[in-house]
Amino acid sequence: MLDSYRVIGEHAAVVSYCYITTVWACFFSIKVFNVTETVDSRSGFTFRHIFNPFQKYNNVKLSEPALVLNRNWFPIQTTSVRNALCLLYTGACKAIDPESFLIHNFNSWSKLDPGENSIITVHSRIRIPDVILLSKYGKIPRMSVNFSRRNLYRRDGYTCQYCTTRFPYDKLTMDHILPKSKGGRTNWCNCVVACGPCNRRKADRTPKESGMKLLRHPSVPKWSPYLNIDERKRRAVWSKFVKKQTQAS
Ligand SMILES: [Zn+2]
Repeated sequence: MLDSYRVIGEHAAVVSYCYITTVWACFFSIKVFNVTETVDSRSGFTFRHIFNPFQKYNNVKLSEPALVLNRNWFPIQTTSVRNALCLLYTGACKAIDPESFLIHNFNSWSKLDPGENSIITVHSRIRIPDVILLSKYGKIPRMSVNFSRRNLYRRDGYTCQYCTTRFPYDKLTMDHILPKSKGGRTNWCNCVVACGPCNRRKADRTPKESGMKLLRHPSVPKWSPYLNIDERKRRAVWSKFVKKQTQAS
């Protein structure tokens, strides 16, 4: 009996996946076509031009990020607006109006004033959901932050940990507190951000040997849904849903 339940469950998952895909294909791949005709003066052949003036605009908007909250309003990740609208249409999530904090299903959401932040369909504009609330998923996935140069820069706020000056990405370097030549590892606790001059001054020495002081002791950062998103793409309204201590990273 249990096996048959499992099979039914798997079948349901596949069906729902196909359903979502089909719904998406039918509903959100709407393209607004303008058909124009021009007649070649020599041959008399009629050319038909199909042009979708909003397709590029929509594609840009649909690939932007939306914040995903679990059903307990805890931010767990980000997804594309395209996926968020698909989930909203199938009822797998609700959209949150960040001004009123009211939650909407697809019907009520599509009746809201679209404003500037919207996509264009054949009949109307639909407001882009910046924040969605999953209908069933209530867990907090265990997420760890991958060690990478970009994430290290984010953890340290693009600030040299020796002279405390903030720099653009391309002016910063990764410094090993205990130099690699002395057995220092490349990890969260032994690496910090340093500007070029500070890194050269410290050279192949420890901070103590070089008489330099760290701004703060480095540690493994807490995971934040913001980590995967470039700072320039983050929505200001997300700050209402993400705790302050997880925003800096
Ligand atoms: Zn510096």
